[in-house]
This record gives sequence, structure tokens and C-alpha cells, in this order.
Amino acid sequence: MMAPVAPRVGVLAVQGDVREHRQALESLGATVVPVRRPGELHGIQGIVIPGGESTVIDKLLRSFELFEPLQEALRAGLPAYGSCAGMILLADRIVDGTADQQTLGGLDITVRRNAFGRQVDSFEQDLRYAGWADPVRAVFIRAPWVERVGERVEVLAEVVSGATAHPVAVRQGALLATSFHPEVTGDHRVHGHFLDLLAEHT
Ligand code: GLN
Repeated sequence: MMAPVAPRVGVLAVQGDVREHRQALESLGATVVPVRRPGELHGIQGIVIPGGESTVIDKLLRSFELFEPLQEALRAGLPAYGSCAGMILLADRIVDGTADQQTLGGLDITVRRNAFGRQVDSFEQDLRYAGWADPVRAVFIRAPWVERVGERVEVLAEVVSGATAHPVAVRQGALLATSFHPEVTGDHRVHGHFLDLLAEHT
């Protein structure tokens, strides 16, 4: 039998914690392609959009002439995983974005930017993640939460605050997003989940 071919996964490398995502994906056997130019989108089977600052990533995407090609690739079905700022970029709608902030979109969700940050900048919590026996250690850094989800969106994890549960991990088809940063904990199950989705959709 032939060994399975390693998936080629892009990591958007214009700003944010690119290196940690690269390490997580490589530890799972993926071949990682840093994406800074439109041509680097060719031949990848999925893309990770790291955390960082969504307004800055948005501006850099436009100045690198990557915004439209990446948006087209997503519309054509390129699987994607967005963490934190990456979740904001994959969301169809933002609350508390800057006036000129755009998103790539794809996920039928409304995210609230810096949602937890009004009370506290950063925190960690163990969360249940759909389908997993063991909780995931979720690290939140000026994180968004999901305020509304469309019908086709599956909620994978939530943070409960008072009487309200805020989704912080969601999936729609082969688009996955988390408000938190699994790439900083050494627990690579979220990246593994993304590689599974990518294999199913390729
Ligand atoms: N607050 C940031 C934003 O709006 C996201 C923070 C993060 O990615 N850690 O993009």
C-alpha cells in the first residue's frame, strides 16, 4: 500500500501567530505553505487564518492583493480554519468592527469583536468540544464571540456567562473557526479536526 500523501495546507502569513499554527500542522503530518502572495494559493488543500489583529490582516490582505483571490478560493470551497482574528475574517458579519473593516466571509455567523475584552483582556478555560471526551483548554486573547449563527452552522463549543451561552467554536461545511488559540497549548486536536474536514472535502 502507498503511504497517504501529506495534505498541503496554507497558513496565511501576513500577520499574527503563523509559526505556532505551522508547528501544530506539521506535527500532524501536513506540509505547510506560508501564503503571502496570490500564487501561493494554488495547490493548497486548505488554509489556516491565524490570530493577530483582524483590522491589520484585512488591510494587509488588500495591500498584498490577496483579499479577492483568497475570497474567491473560499467561495469555491477551499476549506479554512480561522482562530480568533481568523474567525472574524471568516465571519459574514461583525459587530464592533472598525468603520472600514471588511471580512472574507463564508461562515454564516455574526461575531462580536473584542467581546470578552470589555471585562477582561485574556483568560483560559476548559471547555467541552462536541464529540470529544476530554475538554479543550481554551486560551482567549482579546477574543471575539459568536453572537448569531445561521441554520447550517454547527456550534462545537460555548462559553457560558450568566444566563447566556456564547459560541466560541463553530463549523459550517469545511469552514472551522474558534475564538480561542489551540496553537499555543500543545493540544493539536482542533488542527486535527480541521485536517479531517479537509480530507472529507477534498
Ligand atoms: N482582537 C483581535 C481582532 O479584533 C483578535 C485577537 C486575537 O486574534 N488574538 O482581530
